[in-house]
Amino acid sequence: MSMKILIAGGGIAGLAASLALARDGHDIILFEQAAAINEVGAGLQISPNGMKVLRSLNLEEEVISAGFEPERIELRMGKSGAVIFDIPLADRSVDRWGARYIHIHRADLLNILLNEAEISDNIEIRLNHQLQQINTDGDEVELTLSGGRTERGDLLIGADGIHSVVRERLTGPRPPRFTGCVAWRGVIDVSRLTGAKPPPTACAWVGKGAHMVTYYLRSGQLVNLVGVIERSDWRTESWSERGMRDQFLSDFKGWHPTLQELIQKGDEFFQWALFDRTPLPKWVDGRVGLIGDACHPMLPFLAQGAVMALEDAYVLAKCLREEAAVETALQTYQGMRRARATQIQDQSRRNAGTFHRQSPLTQLATYGPMWLAGHALPEVVHQRMDWIYGHDVTA
Ligand SMILES: Cc1cc2nc3c(=O)[nH]c(=O)nc-3n(C[C@H](O)[C@H](O)[C@H](O)COP(=O)(O)OP(=O)(O)OC[C@H]3O[C@@H](n4cnc5c(N)ncnc54)[C@H](O)[C@@H]3O)c2cc1C
Repeated sequence: MSMKILIAGGGIAGLAASLALARDGHDIILFEQAAAINEVGAGLQISPNGMKVLRSLNLEEEVISAGFEPERIELRMGKSGAVIFDIPLADRSVDRWGARYIHIHRADLLNILLNEAEISDNIEIRLNHQLQQINTDGDEVELTLSGGRTERGDLLIGADGIHSVVRERLTGPRPPRFTGCVAWRGVIDVSRLTGAKPPPTACAWVGKGAHMVTYYLRSGQLVNLVGVIERSDWRTESWSERGMRDQFLSDFKGWHPTLQELIQKGDEFFQWALFDRTPLPKWVDGRVGLIGDACHPMLPFLAQGAVMALEDAYVLAKCLREEAAVETALQTYQGMRRARATQIQDQSRRNAGTFHRQSPLTQLATYGPMWLAGHALPEVVHQRMDWIYGHDVTA
């Protein structure tokens, strides 16, 4: 049965859900508080489990051509650059996990989703519309938006990010939790680099209380750089807090020259504190449901936040297709998604400890066996990723 579905939030979650639901014949109105749908300069890793959802939306090829396929996943020591482990990715990903592993500029992914939504007759995007109040009334949900505007629909999907007002309606006020980590982020034009370039891999560089991540975007024209440090005194939770280069350099003083050059040559860097949440008691209530960061914000140390949003979008649409009653469909969606997202949130948090080993002894105890496994048993390293990358919500 075709429904009128209201979606709050025009990020990756909201746009992907719009596309998945519109394909089933539903009419979608997506409300975005901002005046335009865009993203700060930064990259995203889309692992095979996310690429399978993009394939189901017929967007896989477009994402592959706009992105970059890393040869391997690597872990290196941040100062010396010594490789701790290194496993093939491009050669193995399709055979083992059923799709490619792609790095893409956030703005490019958002544009691909947005362009597709704009050509759909079933999707209407209303910018400058901030959701402020939600009333449920029998078989309908009524929204009050900025400027006193109202809209009614059959159900509401909250894809409104970590500060979700829809989540607050479902679970009451619960401030997100500062994780003690602050991230620097920027994109560097490769043509400006004169020294040794970063490897063509998904590379995490680890050190005491800090790590960096490097990978290429746009067919290798850009390098995405993320630097995460542990810091207790910073609380601004923003995508667009511009940081100072000198501070970034001083946070990573003595790290590998390739990383130093990236910091030197970037035009601008953004800095923000990283927050997550303890798992929510519920993601749905009646005719209201949550997807993406609205229900499971996580540390980016498994690179799965946006990928989980893609999986949510697909599963939500599937449940609404297969269940006659909206309330039951939303309960089924929650049942299918919550345990997996919680496990990914937990593992992301644990990775902070692995990446930031403090002493040479704990580094040896952690990275020694990893080095051995990468050399002697790469199969074991691949196997450890099967539950994440091999998962196929579209199967
Ligand atoms: C450093 C870092 C690196 C990351 N790397 C990766 C990665 O490699 N791979 C990966 O999969 N994930 C990664 N992530 C996670 C990923 O970025 C997020 O999980 C993802 O962007 C969440 O998408 P979303 O649509 O749920 O939320 P958001 O992107 O936050 O979108 C929410 C939207 O809702 C709008 N909105 C909010 N409130 C309202 C309202 N009241 N009314 C109307 N609109 C509203 C906002 O303006 C926004 O457009 C990373 C995150 C960080 C911080």
